[in-house]
Amino acid sequence: MLSAYLLSRDARCYECDRKLLSGEVAKLTHESEERELFCAKCAQLDKLEVLNKGNAKLTRLASKYSKVKYALLKWSPLWKAYERQGLLLEPEAIAKAKAELTS
Ligand SMILES: [Zn+2]
Repeated sequence: MLSAYLLSRDARCYECDRKLLSGEVAKLTHESEERELFCAKCAQLDKLEVLNKGNAKLTRLASKYSKVKYALLKWSPLWKAYERQGLLLEPEAIAKAKAELTS
């Protein structure tokens, strides 16, 4: 699965030079560093919706319906590793999964 990242500090988009704030979604060119990164718009992630982890049923169903899938990761200074925050999925897929689970 592809990965996207929640920034743990402010940064700048490598493509459009927009200032990005900690907590924004971005895509890294190299997985290990936040120096070269693209904002959600340049990485074409801005059409996707964040589905936070915690609801296993919803996660499973929504990721089944979504053609585009990114694991959303965030650097944890405590564990010194990337932690999975949830997924970036197509909004329609999340809506469809929610509707199916509540019906
Ligand atoms: Zn950009």
